[in-house]
Amino acid sequence: MLYQTEGIVLSSVDLGEHDRIVTLLTLQKGLVRAVVRGARKPNSRLAAVTQPFSRADFQLYGRGSSLERVIQVSLLDSHPGIVSDYARVVYASYLAEIVSGLMPEHERNSGVYHLFIAILAGLQEARELWTVARWAELRLLKSAGFMPSLESCLKCGKVPVGTTYFSAPAGGVLCDKCHAKEEGPGILMPVSSGSIKTLSLIAASPNRPNVVARGQVRDEAAKMMREYVAHVLGKRPKSLSLVEKLEDEGA
Ligand SMILES: [Zn+2]
Repeated sequence: MLYQTEGIVLSSVDLGEHDRIVTLLTLQKGLVRAVVRGARKPNSRLAAVTQPFSRADFQLYGRGSSLERVIQVSLLDSHPGIVSDYARVVYASYLAEIVSGLMPEHERNSGVYHLFIAILAGLQEARELWTVARWAELRLLKSAGFMPSLESCLKCGKVPVGTTYFSAPAGGVLCDKCHAKEEGPGILMPVSSGSIKTLSLIAASPNRPNVVARGQVRDEAAKMMREYVAHVLGKRPKSLSLVEKLEDEGA
């Protein structure tokens, strides 16, 4: 079946000598994997318009199997401000991996599609990439039903005061009292109330928030989210080590 949809290229891998497989987030059918024939030949027109983070009108051909075929592409936005900047590419790759890992194939979700457009716009324009990344992580997790419990203790439901503990496997925070009753070491990470509040504030914002985090809050909140994302996806995203390196260097 031949059909038309707007979509965003999340990633691409080479296939054989001439072709390429792209993973698309489409408006009509959610995640789609498709072959771009001849995309690796010199001067291929399709190569230029199927680069990661390009948004385009795609004509696709699918026969019900998982792998479809890109027939025609009409570019809408190549996001030059992202692809020309190393840090923005790293974050975009990381967030694209989260989308690929969270969303099912061939299931329309226009909310996530428009969210990802807003995320790319944020990565293209923002000076604080850290804030865009945390906002994107939280909103994507929320859209997929994996919002961590940040405001209240997972065990007793009270708002924690003082030292709070975050558990990626449990998907939220524990208060000091409930933490003391927990057995077994290792999975709980002590976090400050400032980190929790910052993430809650960012998560509650439907549009990219104007929050700037510094110092311990910045490090802790990033670490909480990285651990939680890896837990939800069941693996560390491939680009996560590059994100960690950027953030350790103060991005
Ligand atoms: Zn508690």
